[in-house]
Formats: sequence, C-alpha cells, structure tokens
Amino acid sequence: MRLGRVASPDGVAFAAIDDADDGPRAREIAEHPFGTPTFTGRSWALADVRLLAPILASKVICIGKNYAAHAAEMGGEAPADPVIFLKPNTSIIGPEVPIVRPPNSERVDFEGELAVVIGQPCKNVKAADAKGVILGYTVGNDVTARDHQQADGQWTRGKSYDTFCPLGPWIETEFDPSDAELITELDGEVKQRSRTSSMVHDVGAIVEWISKVMTLLPGDVILTGTPEGVGPMQAGQRVSVTVEGLGTLSNPVVDKA
Ligand code: MG
Repeated sequence: MRLGRVASPDGVAFAAIDDADDGPRAREIAEHPFGTPTFTGRSWALADVRLLAPILASKVICIGKNYAAHAAEMGGEAPADPVIFLKPNTSIIGPEVPIVRPPNSERVDFEGELAVVIGQPCKNVKAADAKGVILGYTVGNDVTARDHQQADGQWTRGKSYDTFCPLGPWIETEFDPSDAELITELDGEVKQRSRTSSMVHDVGAIVEWISKVMTLLPGDVILTGTPEGVGPMQAGQRVSVTVEGLGTLSNPVVDKA
C-alpha cells in the first residue's frame, strides 16, 4: 500500500494512493496510517490534491558513511559500526517544496537516500525483527551545508537548516529494501547511481543499532546514508531522487530571499 499525506480541497489528511481505472486516487484514512488503517469513504483524484511530506516524524535519525564509495569520496573509510546523527523534524518538507540555501553557506549538497519509516514504539529491536516495526519506506534527501559541516567538527548545523529534509512522495509498505536502484539527478543529469545492496549496514542492522540507543516512535524516519556522487546545488536548479519501487522525490532549489 502507498500511504501519503495530502492537502485536499477538504483539508489535510493521510490517504492511501491507489490506481483506479480513471487514474490514481487518494483515499482518505481516518486519523493515522499506523496499524490497520480505516478509511472514511472520501477520496480525491490524485491530480486534485497536493502531496505533502508523507509523515510528521518526532525525529529523523541519519546514518553517516553507509556506502563505502561515498566514505571514500569524503576522504575516509566506512566505519565498522554505524555512525548516527539527527536532523530536526523542522527540516522536513514534502515534494515540490523549495530547498532553501542559507545565505551564509557556500556549498549546499544533495544526498539521495532510502528512508525507513517506523510503525510502532520500539526499543532494542533485533535485526531479524526489524521488519515488524517498520511501517514502510520512502525517498529522502539529506541536504547538507557541507562547509558548515566541515567547519564545525560536528554535523548539527550543516544538517539542520529548515527545508534540509525533503521526504516523499509517499510511503510504500510492501517495499523490499535489500537491492533497489537509487538515482539522484540534478536538472535531469544523473549525479548518483547506486543500489541499496551496497549499504555497509543494512536496514535490519541499522534499526538494531539505533534502537539500542533510543526509543523509536511511530513515524520516526531513518535516513540510511547516501552513495557516492554527492555534489552542490544552486538556486534555480531542481534535484530529484528516485528509488526503484518507491518513486521520485523532486524539489526546486532557491536562495533565501
Ligand atoms: Mg546523508
């Protein structure tokens, strides 16, 4: 099932996105999409609604250097254990919402990533049990002010600007994360192309590692790391991240007015 959050003529709601004979439709979900969702009976043509970020996370946990070729392009090796950091939930935006480059950064990079969405409160989850706590998967962009990340010696400022966590277009609950192609394009030019099978730590290992540290809540998002090919974005450009089987997350880039 594809789970989205939509702005419709009737307000904001979670919805299941289904293919119907006359085109895709958004079927309104009552309350929230966790567990077994119930439906209100109301629906809209997908063309008549706007897709928002598919989830409002209480936190976004990110994995650093989870593809060896990206660790190498950053001048190091992938660490033996996962390295984790946080992005604030205030950095989340949906598809088509502009990524805003802060005026004091010389280099704002895209990082296309597979995003995991947690489906229930959990702690100390074994890798083998991770599937049971995951609601589904979406596409993410771990936007980074690279100069601020490097200047500070830790990553909070460089990773946390408002609009630096695009997510979408929806959550796919039936997705197999083990070997999907991931492509990032800038103005239609392919910049990143890899497969999730190249992750150093797979989704199960990541959920085990993070949930040893912190309680995960429904809707929390894990960004699983970016492959090689990261690079800067300029105002007026458009960045699109596609994960095979999930869809494409596309955002324009602007400078802060
Ligand atoms: Mg990243």
